[in-house]
Amino acid sequence: MRDFIHAGQPTRVVFGAGSLAHLEREIDLLGSRRALVLSTPDQAAQATMVADRLGARAAGVFARAVMHVPIETAREAREEARRLNADCAIAIGGGSTVGLGKAIALESGLPVLAVPTTYAGSEMTPIYGITEAGLKKTGRDPRVLPRTVIYDPALTASLPVALSVTSGMNAIAHAAEGLYAQDSNPIMDLMAEEGIRALAQALPVVRQQPRDLDGRSDALYGAWLCGTVLGNVGMALHHKLCHTLGGSFNLPHAEVHTVVLPHAIAFNAEAAPQAMQRIGRALGVQGKSSAAAGLFDLARANGAPVALRDIGMRADDLDRAAEIAASNPYWNPRPIGPAQRAEIRALLQRAFEGVRPE
Ligand code: NAD
Repeated sequence: MRDFIHAGQPTRVVFGAGSLAHLEREIDLLGSRRALVLSTPDQAAQATMVADRLGARAAGVFARAVMHVPIETAREAREEARRLNADCAIAIGGGSTVGLGKAIALESGLPVLAVPTTYAGSEMTPIYGITEAGLKKTGRDPRVLPRTVIYDPALTASLPVALSVTSGMNAIAHAAEGLYAQDSNPIMDLMAEEGIRALAQALPVVRQQPRDLDGRSDALYGAWLCGTVLGNVGMALHHKLCHTLGGSFNLPHAEVHTVVLPHAIAFNAEAAPQAMQRIGRALGVQGKSSAAAGLFDLARANGAPVALRDIGMRADDLDRAAEIAASNPYWNPRPIGPAQRAEIRALLQRAFEGVRPE
């Protein structure tokens, strides 16, 4: 048995189809009397529905969350929370909305109650990100970790199939990298393997029957596990590449994770054999194909994009992307830094073309 440190994080998780019905109880437990409900413009109707349920205990609705939390939006939402004298933020939506709740909590310490409707996993992490002048700055702060998370699979039934698949692959990426994290531990390994297994089995069901609540429940269960891994251990090459491609080239978040993951895993395969074994076992491909090929096949079989060129990347930008990703060395099971620029450039070329890793 290896040495490890594990510090459980104090989020209360309420899971189950229809569990939004427990919202009032959960708000009471937080001691909240005036909750500000957050969402994207696309999900304004869901936010209004939540505010209507709460009646006088809803301070208002702020339905202007957007991807990557621009500082201007964060300031507007913080101001709205102050103006309405809110004592809690309810974030109903994906990572963009949860991210806005975190931005409010970072400044004010207001508790966040998250109702996730994608598989991104932000609700289980103390990680925040705010974009200022085109640069996304991320950090960790225990104040931003949602106090309560209500996982209601019924609310994910409306998530479009294409986004369901890529968001599920985004979740799998957290678990896959968690399996070779420098600070991993046996509990996170169990959660990561089970999270990948649950999502790999659920995504084909979600794709064929998007409104099937069993499939949606399994997928959300997997997303919870994978998000917990992201919140507890460090990420490596894959997340660095996605941060670069999303941040500097504006590629869509879940899609870029989907495309890059098999190539990042292939890159690390020899350096992290035990992680590969667990990923392969979770995908059910052991003895048939590599973990990396299994991830590629899972994405392709479920209609997800597998090439960067199909999600808006320009061939001319690949050199610069490799340069940025390799510019500051960071921990990865296979060493990464300026000396490996050519290897990273080759990885990006394979991801650009959508070549199946062997
Ligand atoms: P998102 O939150 O931007 O949602 C994408 C779109 O889908 C939005 O328009 C949203 O309104 C819509 N949508 C969400 N759920 C829906 C549903 N059930 N039905 C219909 N439409 C729905 O996308 P995301 O991938 O969840 O989040 C991405 C963002 O989250 C990125 O900015 C990423 O950096 C961040 N993120 C942060 C962490 C963290 O730990 N801090 C973790 C993961 C992701």
